Amino acid sequence: GSRDTIYRVSLAAADGDVLLTFEDQTATEEAGQMRRDFVANVSHELRTPLTALLGFIETLSGAARDDPAARDRFLGIMAHEANRMTRLVDDLMSLSRVEEDERVRPREHVDLGALLSSVIKGLEPQANAAGVNVTLDLVASDEMVPGDAGQLVQVFTNLVENAIKYGAFGREVTVQLLPREMNQRLRGDAVQVSVTDRGDGIAEHHIARLTERFYRVDNHRSREVGGTGLGLAIVKHIINRHRGRLLIESEEGQGTKVSVFLPSQPVS
Ligand code: ADP
Repeated sequence: GSRDTIYRVSLAAADGDVLLTFEDQTATEEAGQMRRDFVANVSHELRTPLTALLGFIETLSGAARDDPAARDRFLGIMAHEANRMTRLVDDLMSLSRVEEDERVRPREHVDLGALLSSVIKGLEPQANAAGVNVTLDLVASDEMVPGDAGQLVQVFTNLVENAIKYGAFGREVTVQLLPREMNQRLRGDAVQVSVTDRGDGIAEHHIARLTERFYRVDNHRSREVGGTGLGLAIVKHIINRHRGRLLIESEEGQGTKVSVFLPSQPVS
C-alpha cells in the first residue's frame, strides 16, 4: 500500500535570507511505532498468565483451601501458566541476543548433517508424544557451512518443533539436506535444508507476516499448542546474520515446507 512520508519542517532566518528545510522522519517514526507496539505486545503477553496466576492464588487461599482435588488441579494450571511466562522471557532474551549479534559475522564451520541429526534426536520425546516420525533425508551428507552452531541449532529446533506442533497427528515430518547449488538470490553456492509437514498448511495472506514478532495465525491449533509467537522472528534474525534466506511454501489442507538457504562460502 501507499505510505505517507513524515517530514520535520524547520524555518531559519538570517541576514534577510529565509531557509526552509525538510527532513524525512518516516523511518524514525516507524521505528518508534514498532517499539511501542512491541512493548504493548510484551506487556499483554505477560499480563495474561499473571492475571490467571493471581486469580488462582486468590481461589486457593479462599474457597478451594480445604478441597484437595481442586487444589491439585489449580496447582497444575498455575505451573502451566508459570512455564508459559518462562518460555516467553527466554524467547525475548534470545531475540534481543540475536538482534545484537546480527552485525557480527559467524566464524565457525558447521557440519549441517551432524547438527540436524542431533536436533532431531533432541526432539524425539516431543515427536513421540505427537505420534510423529521425523525422518532425516541426507541427500548431501558432508556439507559444511560457515555459521554459528548454537544459533543454527536454534533455527532448526524451531522449524522442526513447528512441523511437529502444526503437522497432523501421526503424520510424518521430513527434514532434507540438499547439496550445494547456485542460488540466484544469494548470488553464490548455497546449501538447502527443508522441513516438510503434512499439517493443515497456512493461508497465503499469512505467510509473509509469520516472521513478525508475536504474529500467529489465529486458528484453534495455534492457541491450543501455545507457543510464544517469537520463534520465526528469532529464526529470521539468525538467517539474516548468516546472509541466508528463508522460504515458506504452504498449501492449505496439504502441509507446509519451510526451507533455509545458507551460503556455503564465507561471505564478505
Ligand atoms: P509459535 O510460538 O506460535 O509457534 P512461531 O513464530 O514459531 O510462533 O510461528 C508463528 C505462527 O506461524 C504459528 O503460531 C503458527 O500459526 C504458524 N506456523 C508456523 N509453522 C507452521 C507450520 N509448519 N504449519 C502451520 N502453521 C505454522
